[in-house]
Amino acid sequence: MLRRTLAAVFIPLAALAQSPTPAPQMAKPADADKTPASGPKISYSQCHVDGMQIAFTFDDGPHATNTPRLLDMLKERGIKATFYCVGQCVAEYPEIAKRIVDEGHEIASHSWSHPNLIPMSEANVRDQLERTHQVIKQATGVEPKTFRPPYGNFTQRQRNWANAMYGYKIALWDVDTLDWKHRNSARVEAVTLAETRAGSIILTHDIHKSTIDAMPATFDALLAKGFKFVTVSELIALDKPMLPKPKSTPEVAPKAAATKPTAAN
Ligand SMILES: [Zn+2]
Repeated sequence: MLRRTLAAVFIPLAALAQSPTPAPQMAKPADADKTPASGPKISYSQCHVDGMQIAFTFDDGPHATNTPRLLDMLKERGIKATFYCVGQCVAEYPEIAKRIVDEGHEIASHSWSHPNLIPMSEANVRDQLERTHQVIKQATGVEPKTFRPPYGNFTQRQRNWANAMYGYKIALWDVDTLDWKHRNSARVEAVTLAETRAGSIILTHDIHKSTIDAMPATFDALLAKGFKFVTVSELIALDKPMLPKPKSTPEVAPKAAATKPTAAN
């Protein structure tokens, strides 16, 4: 019943037909951490935190079998993740979207049909975001707080608009497992363990079985290292602005200053 209602309301075929061919995945958005000249920071590729918090993210679902399997793994360990869902998949699997929320994870928007948003008209971008916002709200009862643009492609103007319209923070990533490309569980685990730092946002996709296969060992190794799994919204709430580096004083010799440990950034 719910599924039929959602499909009837939210899938105008004409709009889907307008979606351009997906653009190549960017290695890392170049302007991820640029702050607009005025106003608060709205885009994050990682956060600066005092503790060992990290945010593990799973994109492009929900998937019929892989997402429930992943949810079981997360529940078993009592850890939280964030799911950047594609609106049309939420319309197809509203019960899985609901389970994501019921089990304490963050569900967030990843557009309706995963297009490259940069060349799209304002009206089409609005359509992509609005339909996804509404289908998530209808399926789960909660409104998404963050948005991840497909391929990380979103102009500063689009970011500002999405933030003003929905209050979205734009969530990018600093650890890119490239799981969609290699489909190799051992590689997903190795890259994640090598690159994850306190404050990291890790990008994976729960539509690939090879990614889910990597998760038990990856989760357990990160937990053994002392990392704390939080949602993206929780991580952003912990973010501390980077203080300007103190100027060296005449009393401090340059050599001594150079050997001092510095905060990771
Ligand atoms: Zn995606």
